[in-house]
Amino acid sequence: MFAEIYRPSINFTAAPAHERLGVCFHHSTLEFDATIEHILHSDHPVSYHCLIATDGTRCTFVTDEHVAWHAGASAFLGRTRCNDFLLGVAFAGNTHLAPLTTAQLGSAIEWLAPRWTRHGWTPACMTDHRTIAPGRKDDLAPAEWARLLMAISEKFGRG
Ligand SMILES: [Zn+2]
Repeated sequence: MFAEIYRPSINFTAAPAHERLGVCFHHSTLEFDATIEHILHSDHPVSYHCLIATDGTRCTFVTDEHVAWHAGASAFLGRTRCNDFLLGVAFAGNTHLAPLTTAQLGSAIEWLAPRWTRHGWTPACMTDHRTIAPGRKDDLAPAEWARLLMAISEKFGRG
């Protein structure tokens, strides 16, 4: 079990309730503590549901039933406004500069596990920011997204 902390952000939309059709993964570019500082104290209207440190520690900013502000202009599953239906999970750091750690992958799986059956997810419900905002966003690095999706498919099956 990885450590979890809760640092509530005011950057969320409470209604309508989050649809939780899947997850969009990000990297935050900044390190873990700097990302927390940025989300809690900058004027940028950004948040994730969860941030995962290189040691696997998870920080929750927004609870699942609320809409976090992580995707911006985006499209997935034939719809726009992905924040309304995709939970946002970010890995601290920059996956173009350093690969996801084993702890980050394990912590992401641990975060997904209780939600996977509850929401009826399959690997096709998982995506990353680069995929849903092509040309505008570059997270995750393609090789790291492939590693994550492999780990997800190995744990939960290919649906
Ligand atoms: Zn992103």
